[in-house]
Amino acid sequence: MELLVKGARVVDSSQDFEGDVYIRNGKIDEIGKSLSKDCSVIDGKGLTILPAFVDLHSHFRDPGQTYKEDILSGSRAAAAGGYTAVNLMANTDPPCSSMEIVEYVKNKADEAGLIDVYQSISITKNMEGNDISHLEKIDKGVKIISDDGKGVLSIDIMYKAMVKAKDMGIIVMTHEEDESIAKYDARLSENIMTIRDIVLSEYTLCPLHIAHVSTKEAMKSIMDAKKRGVPVTCEVTPHHISLDNSVDYKVNPPLRDATDVKFLIESIKDGFVDVISTDHAPHTMEDKRNGARGISGLETAFCVCFTKLVHEGNISLSRLSEIMSKNPARILKLNKGEIKIGYDGDLVLVDLNKKIKVDAKNFESKGKNTPFDGMEFYGKVLMTVKGGRVIYDNRQAL
Ligand SMILES: [Zn+2]
Repeated sequence: MELLVKGARVVDSSQDFEGDVYIRNGKIDEIGKSLSKDCSVIDGKGLTILPAFVDLHSHFRDPGQTYKEDILSGSRAAAAGGYTAVNLMANTDPPCSSMEIVEYVKNKADEAGLIDVYQSISITKNMEGNDISHLEKIDKGVKIISDDGKGVLSIDIMYKAMVKAKDMGIIVMTHEEDESIAKYDARLSENIMTIRDIVLSEYTLCPLHIAHVSTKEAMKSIMDAKKRGVPVTCEVTPHHISLDNSVDYKVNPPLRDATDVKFLIESIKDGFVDVISTDHAPHTMEDKRNGARGISGLETAFCVCFTKLVHEGNISLSRLSEIMSKNPARILKLNKGEIKIGYDGDLVLVDLNKKIKVDAKNFESKGKNTPFDGMEFYGKVLMTVKGGRVIYDNRQAL
C-alpha cells in the first residue's frame, strides 16, 4: 500500500517544515519536497501532518461493560481522535488478570482492524489488592501492569509487584489513590501514594509510570524523583490541564484547583511531563447521572491540548507531538511516534486554524460524556492514516 501526502506542514518532536511524506509497505519511505509518486495522493496544502497519537491510558470496557464501549467502538473513537495505538486498562469485568482476556481483546482488535491495541494486565489478581500469583503466568508480550481505577493499598504487595515487574522487564503503571484517606482529602490521597510508589521504584529500580497526575504536590515529588534518577515517567490528561474544579464534572482523580492546572502546564513546559494520556473512560448518560467518574476523551484530546498548550502559547507543536506521540510510543517500545524513514506510516492530518465546536452526540465512542460538549477549540483532526491506510477521513468537514 502506498500513500503520498503532499505540501503539508510536517511536524514531529524534532522537525517542523513544509513538505511531503511518502509511505510504502506500511512504513515511512521518503520525506522531502516535491516528491512525485504514482499512487494515491493527499493534498496537505494549508494543513499539518503529525505522527499519529499513541494513548497509554484508555478504557474500552470490553469484556463486561460493552454497553459503555467495546473494542470496535473504542477503536473508531481512537481513529477519529488521531490515534493509531492505545494501551487499555485492566479494570474490565472480569478484570484482565490472565492471558485469556488479553487474547480475547487482541482478537477483537484484529477483527475491528483499525488501530493497534495493547492490553494491560492487573497488578493484583482480579484487582483485589492482595495476590500477585497471576503474574507468574503472563507472557513476555505484556508491557504494562496496572490496577488503574484504584490504588494498590498494600505496600508489601506493591513492593513484590515491582520486584517481579523489574525482573520481567514490565512497567508498573499506578493510579495513585488511597480511598481510606481520600475520604478526608482527595489531594492527600494522591500525594501520599505518589511518594510511596516513587520510594518503592527508587529502591527496586522498577520502571514506574504514574497515571493522571493532578496535584502540584504529586508533580513536585515526581520532579524531585526524576532529578535523582528514579526510573519514573508520568502522564497528565487533557482535562486536568484545561479545567479546574470551578467546573462541576466528575473524573478520577477529581478536577483540581486553578493553581494545580497552572502548575501542570508549567511542568509540561519544563519537560517533566512525559506523556498526555486521555484516560478515556466512557459511560452511559444514566451512569453519569448516578455519579460515575470519567470522560470520553479520545475524540477531544488533540483539540483541547492544541488549544490550551500550543495556541495559547505555552509550548511548540513539536513539544506537543513529543508528549502525544513520541514518548508514549517509546514507553510501549513501538516503532511509531516520529516522522522518520523506517517508522510506521502512521500519520494524522489536522487543520490547526479551523475553530470547531465539540458535539458529543457525534462521537464515535459509545460514551457521549464530556465536560467539553459545546465548547470551541482549534485543531480539527481530518484524517488518520495507519501503515499507509486511511482509517478515518473527515475532510468533507473542511
Ligand atoms: Zn486511573
